Amino acid sequence: VSFVKQFVCTVCKTNYPSNYTGFTCPKCGEKGILDIEYDYRAMKSVVTKQYFKANSDYSMWRYLPLMSIDKRPETTLAVGWTPLYETKRLGSLWGISRLYVKDEGLNPTASLKDRASAVACAHAKAIGATTVACSSTGNAASSLAGSAARMGLASVIFVPKRAPAAKVTQLGVFGAKVIQVEGDYKAAFSLSKQAIAHYGWYNRNAAINPHLVEGKKTVALEIAEQLDWNVPDWCVVSVGDGCTIAGVYKGFYDLFELGITTKIPRLLGVQAEGCQPFVTAWDNNEAILETDENTIADSIAVGIPRNPNKAMKAVVQSNGEWIAVSDEAILAAIKTLGNTEGIFGEPAAAAAAAGCYEAIRRGVISPNDAVVVISTGSGLKDIDHAKQAVEEPIRLFPNLELLIDVLRKKDIQ
Ligand SMILES: *Cc1c(COP(=O)(O)O)cnc(C)c1O
Ligand SMILES: [Zn+2]
Repeated sequence: VSFVKQFVCTVCKTNYPSNYTGFTCPKCGEKGILDIEYDYRAMKSVVTKQYFKANSDYSMWRYLPLMSIDKRPETTLAVGWTPLYETKRLGSLWGISRLYVKDEGLNPTASLKDRASAVACAHAKAIGATTVACSSTGNAASSLAGSAARMGLASVIFVPKRAPAAKVTQLGVFGAKVIQVEGDYKAAFSLSKQAIAHYGWYNRNAAINPHLVEGKKTVALEIAEQLDWNVPDWCVVSVGDGCTIAGVYKGFYDLFELGITTKIPRLLGVQAEGCQPFVTAWDNNEAILETDENTIADSIAVGIPRNPNKAMKAVVQSNGEWIAVSDEAILAAIKTLGNTEGIFGEPAAAAAAAGCYEAIRRGVISPNDAVVVISTGSGLKDIDHAKQAVEEPIRLFPNLELLIDVLRKKDIQ
């Protein structure tokens, strides 16, 4: 069963019935991104705290009745139910008492994007598509290729020139046709759009496909459930296109509407200083303008956000905030998160931690607030940048005298 009530255009607010098969609003074209609305009254009859207590499926599919597709595919990767760590050491370092980190890098292809790609592939199969396609800075692509392989679909992926090697290699391993475009993400997106229209492939491009946010929201559903339905005061998310933060909001919104939780956390959207269209628009109270994509955090290096309305709505409706962090702060956060808690995030993931720290420093987040930072992807995907954050290893010949000598000089015993 799916409790979808209707699709609503995020631009002109036109409604489309629950059996509508298009991805965007025909009146508004590509910018007419649809939001999926549910019949919460009907959903309430199924989705209760008791329902979850009795559910032994510890994956994102335990939330199927809150999603827009009817059926779980037969073969899926084990996406979701990633750990939510209480990070006391990091919290005390930063001066807050209740800090948690959700490690999304532990998903099958090592990022939160697995949640959206699993839904995309499930939907593609449900409507009889055989090839799925997208353009991506990396994680949407590798997750799509992984889920496609697992579900028996072909995949075609467009990546920008600067996508890190690990992510591009993942694609090859998962059997995707990889088109590495000479240019940035904007260029890759534009070519993929034309090719998808030309070949009629299933479109997993972020934002355009309304079902993806419904997959991404499962991260928020999980956070709430892992905290025994006591949602935090803040949830910190790094933002590129804006689909992730929109999904996080949607998940918390659903639970609130169902009466399972009593509030929606304030959302802190974090961008990199070298690519901060949302932050600039927010600070200057102006429209979102195209910007350069100048940051080591490739997964959030998005100069034209594709989901501006849903992302802004998430921050406004949750009484949240936007913040930007420097690449230096991101590198520092990679190191701190790793050193204090054993969590290794890629730059875009550590950006959220860096933003959390900055918000605490500025007094936006107070010491008594409960905060969840979402670490969106694994650091193993981009070791070149992580290397800049950590000390070089001690290199020496295998000789104990030498070792003792070197360690004494470094004051280690
Ligand atoms: C995609 C991604 C983000 C941001 O998600 P958007 O939907 O583009 O805002 C953040 N971190 C990682 C690791 C990602 O892959
Ligand atoms: Zn519209």
